[in-house]
Amino acid sequence: MKRLALALCAALALGALGAIAASREPPELRETVYVFGTLIEIVIRGENEAKARSAAVAVGDLLQELHSDWHAWRPGQLGDVNAAIAKGDLAKVDDRLAAVLREGRLLGCESGGLFEPAIGGLVGLWGFHADTPPEGALPDTRDLADLVRARPQIADLIIDDTSVSSRNPAVQLDLGGFAKGAALDLAAEQLRANGIQDAVLNAGGDVNVLGRHGGRAWRVAIRDPFVWGAVAAVSLAPGEVLYTSGNYERYFEHGGARFAHIIDPLTGKPVQDIVSVTVLGRNGTRADAAATALSVAGPEAWPATARAMGTDTVLVIDRHGRIMATPAMRDRLEPIAGDFPTQIETVTLPDIEQPECSRG
Ligand code: AMP
Ligand code: MG
Repeated sequence: MKRLALALCAALALGALGAIAASREPPELRETVYVFGTLIEIVIRGENEAKARSAAVAVGDLLQELHSDWHAWRPGQLGDVNAAIAKGDLAKVDDRLAAVLREGRLLGCESGGLFEPAIGGLVGLWGFHADTPPEGALPDTRDLADLVRARPQIADLIIDDTSVSSRNPAVQLDLGGFAKGAALDLAAEQLRANGIQDAVLNAGGDVNVLGRHGGRAWRVAIRDPFVWGAVAAVSLAPGEVLYTSGNYERYFEHGGARFAHIIDPLTGKPVQDIVSVTVLGRNGTRADAAATALSVAGPEAWPATARAMGTDTVLVIDRHGRIMATPAMRDRLEPIAGDFPTQIETVTLPDIEQPECSRG
């Protein structure tokens, strides 16, 4: 039993670093950068040190830049957009931010409005915009209701090339639901352009991988939201991504209740029924947005939302500890210490009509 516990701890520790290393390996360079409210680890494998280091430094610089450009609450490109929208003005952004906003529009539409990067006002009322968890009183219910009624949507944006304005002054952009995914996609692209073949970008369990870990795949753990441990591991093929949204990371505690940092745009309230959603895919932006949207969708509706967002490899854990996985995800799960913590229910995604959505 003790040995099993030790093995689990070892696997987790390594899993938390994004990969489970083997012995007598080629060089691995590790760098960390603190952005988007989390520590991002860059692991580059099998390159000479100078090349690996300069690629890692370039990724670090890129992530810092994106962090300040896309920050909703500090001066910077997105902060300026929010200030302009509040005044009914137009703001200029760079191509990169314009592309992310267009992508956000597509994903928001596909999610049926559950993924909604325009609800910065609600995020602010709940206090989830700070780097530290909120405390104190709950937000005023009238303030929440007023904002919900104003119905801020990313669809209200007018994106004309790189000029951004909004038809709705209640729009306040907060890219927190997919910024990590979008940033890691750009970072992975930059690593490839710099000739790096085998690497992992790990933002606290949100992972993009490049290539392989020597003779085998990069292996990543999916955290158990209830106890220190992992529910399973997944071996990621070159170019795959794994994103988890969890209400165990950042939450508001009041009167013994926990309020997650993911908010249902239709009620203005944090989600409570789902504690963690993991999406495996090939695009970090989409996987990140989908993990957030499925958390909002809840235990009944998540399969339809997953289908609408084109994500078929999903693991969902509800607040009662029920673990559900799509058949595609079930096939990918590997037990960490002999067995899975609980029985995993297989849930097939329904056939539904795909929503007609665009970036424009
Ligand atoms: P994630 O951890 O990817 O699920 O992102 C959570 C973050 O996304 C929160 O801290 C908010 O900044 C933002 N957010 C909260 N609710 C939503 C929502 N319904 N749609 C999009 N972004 C959201
Ligand atoms: Mg997300």
